[in-house]
Amino acid sequence: PAFSQSEPIPVVHVIGTGGTISGGFDPETGRPRSLSAQDLVDLVPALSERVEIEEEDFSRIGSSSMTPEIQFRLAMRVRELMSTREDLSGIVITHGTDSLEETAFLIDLLYDDPRPVVFAAAQRAPRVSDSDGPRNLENAIRAAMSLKARNMGVLVSLNEDLHAARYVTKSHSFAVESFKSGKKGMVGSVDNGS
Ligand code: ASP
Repeated sequence: PAFSQSEPIPVVHVIGTGGTISGGFDPETGRPRSLSAQDLVDLVPALSERVEIEEEDFSRIGSSSMTPEIQFRLAMRVRELMSTREDLSGIVITHGTDSLEETAFLIDLLYDDPRPVVFAAAQRAPRVSDSDGPRNLENAIRAAMSLKARNMGVLVSLNEDLHAARYVTKSHSFAVESFKSGKKGMVGSVDNGS
């Protein structure tokens, strides 16, 4: 375990914006349904004893519908949270993959707090049995809790990798190893939960 009983429990704020990572289904009708931030956090119950997680629904849109105005509002929300909440260890933002690199880059430009802001996304929706979404979210929460992820700017978590928002790009429409940082390489990885 990353934390002992005597250490304060880290607090991570999860902001949901939509995208494939939110692609659930309604059990009553069997039809696709966009999951809330709370629904997404419920998919990673293994973490609940070591971190306090709070959820916020910012939007529920596919990220091809992101606009500079929405991205800027999200950046301002992140700044507001960090300037008023000393108790937060970090922030996680769930987002579609299509415009993830643009949103993460903008927030990185407008962010100067040492605490981690980590994007989580998915190539396979939670409505399918081999979704990468819950694992990517769990890894993002782990990074947001971690002192090792401080002073690294905004990060992006997919496929066990952590990328800097400054360099990451989506390289494939549906492969789970789609996010790459070119010659710069990724900044870290989540290795078996650490
Ligand atoms: N069209 C989706 C989006 O970007 C794709 C995804 O999330 O992977 O919102």
